[in-house]
This record gives sequence, structure tokens and C-alpha cells, in this order.
Amino acid sequence: LLRVESLGKSFAGRPVLSDISFNVHAAEVIGLIGRSGSGKSTLLRCLNRLEHPDTGQIWLADEEIGFQGTKRHPARAGTLARQRAAMSMVFQHFNLWPHRTVLQNVTEGPTSVRGVPRDIAIAQAMAILTRIGLESKAQAYPATLSGGQQQRVSIARALAMQPRLILFDEPTSALDPELVGEVLSVMTDLAGSGTTMLVVTHEMRFALRVCHRILFLDQGRIVDQGTPAALLQRPPDTAIRRFLASSG
Ligand code: ATP
Ligand code: MG
Repeated sequence: LLRVESLGKSFAGRPVLSDISFNVHAAEVIGLIGRSGSGKSTLLRCLNRLEHPDTGQIWLADEEIGFQGTKRHPARAGTLARQRAAMSMVFQHFNLWPHRTVLQNVTEGPTSVRGVPRDIAIAQAMAILTRIGLESKAQAYPATLSGGQQQRVSIARALAMQPRLILFDEPTSALDPELVGEVLSVMTDLAGSGTTMLVVTHEMRFALRVCHRILFLDQGRIVDQGTPAALLQRPPDTAIRRFLASSG
């Protein structure tokens, strides 16, 4: 579904991502782990073009992402917006619109970007809110919700775009410990129902339990990857084992 080849990105001449290549198949859940500063967020941001990579290619299905076109063959207007909508992103800080209700937060993208008629967008949003247990909060404003509920709304907002895959960037790391579980449980549920997900997380137990494959980034390179079971069987002195030991 997603194919990344030889992606590279530098900031001010300092390489932050080097020669990143991997695939994500439909319905796969991929964990992206690594120390702070290893390039995880930059990689997600390159994927949906919040950052522009220096080198490499990204394909979603059979379409190259962020193809800017040439003078003779310019990219069609709206291509980038459409491609971006195909990969919804859920951030650490939920970025909900404070002056809109939960329901309006969830219907805004579908109506304005995808052109879904209002009544249909509302019906779809209510179905999603019901699925994540927040139908009773549809008319509430974000500030009246707990952090865990707000993050579940931002997952609902991502789902409402009907993306091909969802990118999560540490969705639980801004939450109080007692609120982490409800968000991980929504994510576990999505994983179980075949949602394709790329998840940056420091929640190692979640990653090892839910992800089909894990990519381990160190200094902007994928230095190890495999199923959780395979990674756990690496020799104790390997980088991934030392990282897992230090992350609890
Ligand atoms: P964390 O776990 O702390 O979120 P990360 O793995 O997500 O870390 P990134 O945010 O991708 O790491 O950052 C990788 C490196 O790139 C860091 O050294 C960071 O300082 C640098 N960096 C990221 N964004 C920029 C930017 N816009 N300009 C300059 N340097 C940047
Ligand atoms: Mg980050």
C-alpha cells in the first residue's frame, strides 16, 4: 500500500533521515520506535508532506506522493490535498478546533476537503463516535473533555477522512498516565479491524503486542526491523535489545 524508497532529509546540512526504505501492506500495523531525535516525527512528516524530503520516493498504492509536476506537465490542483487526506495524521497534541463541537470537529474534513454532503458526514461521524464510545459527547466542546477523550476525538476526525492509512505520532505521550489506556484500547481495536497504521510510540508493551512489524530508527537510519517476536530474540547486546531494555 505504501512504499518508501531511499528517503533522505537534512536540516541545515545535518542528515536527519538517511536511506529510509520500507513497505507497508494493507491492514498492517507498523511500529516506529527509536530514541528522541532519531527522526521518527520527521519521517511521518515527510510521508504526508508536512516536510519535503531531499531525496527518495514515496508511493501510495501506485501513485507517487507529492509529485510536483514539471513545467510541461504540472501536477493537477488539489493533488497534494487529496494525497494528504489519504494519510490522516494523529498528533501528540490533538489540535482540535476549540470553538467547534466534537461533531463539528469530526465532520469538518469530510465536508470541506472530500465534499461529502452535510447530512451524510454527520451520520458517518456519529457512527464513528459511537464506535469509540463518545456519541454522548457529540455536542460538547473540546475543552470540556478529558485529554484521553480529546485524543479519541482526534482519532475519530482522522477516521472520518476514510484514509488509506493513519499515521500516529506519539498519540499518548501528552496524556496523564491514567488516560493512556483508553486511547491505546481504541488503537488496538482499529488494528484488529484491519486499519492500516504507522505508529510512532514510546509505549513498548503496546508496540510489541499490537504491531505486526516494528522499524527501529537510530540516527535517521532503520538499523533493525522485524516482528516483535523476532526482535525480542535478537542477542542481548544488539542495539534494539538495549533500546527495549532501557524503555522498560
Ligand atoms: P522525539 O522522540 O523526541 O519526538 P523524533 O525521533 O521524533 O524525536 P525528530 O523530531 O524527527 O525526532 O527530529 C530528528 C532530528 O531532526 C532532531 O535532531 C531535531 O532536532 C531535528 N529537526 C527536526 N525538525 C527540524 C527542523 N524543522 N529544523 C531543524 N532541525 C529539525
Ligand atoms: Mg517526535
